[in-house]
Amino acid sequence: MSASLDPDRPEARPDLRSLPLDHLTALVASLGERPFRARQLLRWLQQKGAASLDELTDVPRALRAALAERTTLTTLERATEQRSVDGTIKWTWRTHDGKLIESVYLPETDRRTLCVSSQAGCAVGCTFCLTGTMGLARNLTPGEIVDQVHRANRRIVELGEGEGPRPLTNLVFMGMGEPLANYRSLKIALDLLLAEDGPNFSHRHVTVSTSGLVPVMRKLGEETPVKLAVSLNATTDAQRDAIMPINRRYPLAQLLDACRSFPVRNGRRITFEYVLLGGVNDSLEDAARLAGLVRGIPTKVNLIPYNANPGLPFHAPAPERVAAFQEALVARNLTAVVRKNRGRDISAACGQLAAEGGPGDPRRAQSLTGLPVAG
Ligand code: SF4
Repeated sequence: MSASLDPDRPEARPDLRSLPLDHLTALVASLGERPFRARQLLRWLQQKGAASLDELTDVPRALRAALAERTTLTTLERATEQRSVDGTIKWTWRTHDGKLIESVYLPETDRRTLCVSSQAGCAVGCTFCLTGTMGLARNLTPGEIVDQVHRANRRIVELGEGEGPRPLTNLVFMGMGEPLANYRSLKIALDLLLAEDGPNFSHRHVTVSTSGLVPVMRKLGEETPVKLAVSLNATTDAQRDAIMPINRRYPLAQLLDACRSFPVRNGRRITFEYVLLGGVNDSLEDAARLAGLVRGIPTKVNLIPYNANPGLPFHAPAPERVAAFQEALVARNLTAVVRKNRGRDISAACGQLAAEGGPGDPRRAQSLTGLPVAG
């Protein structure tokens, strides 16, 4: 068994929350325990979301002591909780080394969705996104990714908003970070979240969003069954180069080829997120080009009207422009939904997650865009 699954701390003691079943099996064997203990540990850590080894009441005390000596256990500390008038809740979590990351809870009548972070900060640097202004602090470990889900589940039950052990129904990887830039941790986290002995999320209810890391999109499609969302936001390379620097490396043609070859399961579609930036990408010509770009791809378009932000050089399109853009897509037989701006009053909308500055960071009070929720 490798010492650690944390690529940034290979020397570290293994983090129990980051370990898949085969690693847990090797670990318990190395401690002279029978194999069934591995599945028992997995259930405690990933199904019940145990916050400490003390909770593992049917695991022998001696084994718990050996685990405490040989391993660590990721449990995020809740630093802040902000509730929106629309029911959205944003949590800031503190990691073991003091990084602040955020998750956003979006309750709806038919689902309870958590928007999950994959990195502390982000290196992609989209010019309309507050997380992009932070730079990358570090990748999250698998344990830190899945523990956002466990802490949220427990908190939702505590708040009386759902029943345990897993009130969340849907997950979207659209929080802080580019998930595919942390693919190793993401893949382990997805396996844990979909595991029958874990929270057992349906792959139909888990969506990973990317800004367009083309080579890793292929891996995601080949190695996981989850749904794909692509943050598109432009219809020409010149436009996209200007607002999403990743486009200079993987231009639109390559990105859309990767979407065409993505193994979309029966009846599924790829979600294209499109933040409407007033005067930048919201013309009817853009709508026509967008329809052309996605031709041949089973597509759903999420239109996300941008919210004006004095800190960044963009403005919101007029509502009638948003409506005209949507109509132009629908007229071309595309499914296009205008997303509600959820959690704007608590800076929980897409592109607003910038916890590194802490609760006093003035950026936290600024509104950017609406959070796209996978449908
Ligand atoms: S939009 Fe996503 S990929 Fe782009 S900077 Fe923000 S967090 Fe990173």
